[in-house]
Amino acid sequence: SAKNYEFINSVLPQWLETSRLQTVHGSTAAYIPELAKAPQEALGIHIMCGNGEHVSAGDCGHVFTLQSISKVFTLILALMDHGEEAIFAKVGMEPTGDDFNSMLKLELVRPGIPFNPFINAGAITISSLIVGDGPEEKSARILEFFRRLAGSDTLDYNMDVYHSESETGHRNRSLAYFLLDNGVLGGSSVEDVLEVYFRHCAIEVTCADLARMGLILAFDGKDPLTGDTLIPRRYVQIAKTFMITCGMYNASGEFAIQAGLPAKSGVSGGILTLVPGQYGIGVVGPALNSKGNSIAGVHLLERLSQELDWSIF
Ligand code: GLN
Repeated sequence: SAKNYEFINSVLPQWLETSRLQTVHGSTAAYIPELAKAPQEALGIHIMCGNGEHVSAGDCGHVFTLQSISKVFTLILALMDHGEEAIFAKVGMEPTGDDFNSMLKLELVRPGIPFNPFINAGAITISSLIVGDGPEEKSARILEFFRRLAGSDTLDYNMDVYHSESETGHRNRSLAYFLLDNGVLGGSSVEDVLEVYFRHCAIEVTCADLARMGLILAFDGKDPLTGDTLIPRRYVQIAKTFMITCGMYNASGEFAIQAGLPAKSGVSGGILTLVPGQYGIGVVGPALNSKGNSIAGVHLLERLSQELDWSIF
């Protein structure tokens, strides 16, 4: 409502500075060398309304790569390409409670089928399912879909981050080999699938882009600014459910209790979240907590949700 909007506008800069103090307790992701260079103390937020008005605060000019946030939208594209039945023959619907790059449970249930599409093994499987003739065409389709959702034809890869991860991503490589061995990758080779995966993780955005993408989810797949339906409602529903159960890695339960919003985080410190029917929200704070989520970003979102009564539960 208008009242909420005015209130957010008045408190946001101050609340952001309070949350920024948390950044000293976190650290930037180091396993992708290029990501370690991000400013530790940065924090930015952009909140976009269904009428296009927005509020922002902090380091909104900071550009960062989507990383795991991209998994929400590759899942949606794969669902649009193949339908539910085909997708859920290849990935499960359950949270793991393990780290996002864990291989522990790949041998547990139905051999080799990843537990869900947001752990790396699941997202790599989803990358293999994107329609397209080879990694180039698949990647081009993903980029073009993301551009449409963000309402920006300038969205592009950060090639330094792409190369940095491609050169050092041996754990993802081993996950992909495991999937290949279990016959989960269809006809694709490990390197072809990883090229698609590392590329979509390396698409560069701002908080405003994230907010715009979140807005489409907040309005069930229909862009409230243009009236265009970009995603079938059912697939938005599936994506938002995974965002609640798996979106914040193995801190998803805690975030569901403290904030109660569908959200997806990435190791670059980005968080995409939304308030259904109201706001798309993009946050970035590269210093991560022990669970791999933006430490200050989580702090700020929990406060906003509690004070404004945003929880969907
Ligand atoms: N590209 C990253 C990886 O595969 C994405 C992980 C993340 O953001 N949690 O490790």
